Amino acid sequence: MIFENLKKVKAWVPVDGTYDLGSGPRLTMEDQEESYPLSRCISCCCCMEACPQFNESTGFVGAAAISQVRLFNTHPTGKALKRERLSALMGDGGIQECGYAQNCVEICPKDIPLTKSISEVGGQVMRQAIGDLFRK
Ligand code: SF4
Ligand code: SF4
Repeated sequence: MIFENLKKVKAWVPVDGTYDLGSGPRLTMEDQEESYPLSRCISCCCCMEACPQFNESTGFVGAAAISQVRLFNTHPTGKALKRERLSALMGDGGIQECGYAQNCVEICPKDIPLTKSISEVGGQVMRQAIGDLFRK
């Protein structure tokens, strides 16, 4: 299930081919500090098990997938898919399903700051939705 949800939000860095692309752009120290804790996710699904909102009726993508959106939206190459990731979190099963019960952050064995990720990504989704409204 977690892998399906990671696919939904395109939780990867897009790479154009398998040839040597050389060294990629560098992460700033600030971005490294933000990204490192998020990169420690082991896909154990504990956060989803503990979440009162994670069930078939909501179709919620869950805290781990949202946190990976924050990780890849921070990455200089991963950012290329930022818009698509945020679009995937709008509507049913998206970030608004979160009731902010915080069970996820308490149970995560890797101490990933999941509620911070949810707030941060929630802000990104909101800014994109508002921007889209003005573009219409
Ligand atoms: S904050 Fe609560 S509702 Fe939101 S993902 Fe975590 S456990 Fe689920
Ligand atoms: S509980 Fe933590 S380590 Fe496990 S899937 Fe969720 S975010 Fe990842």
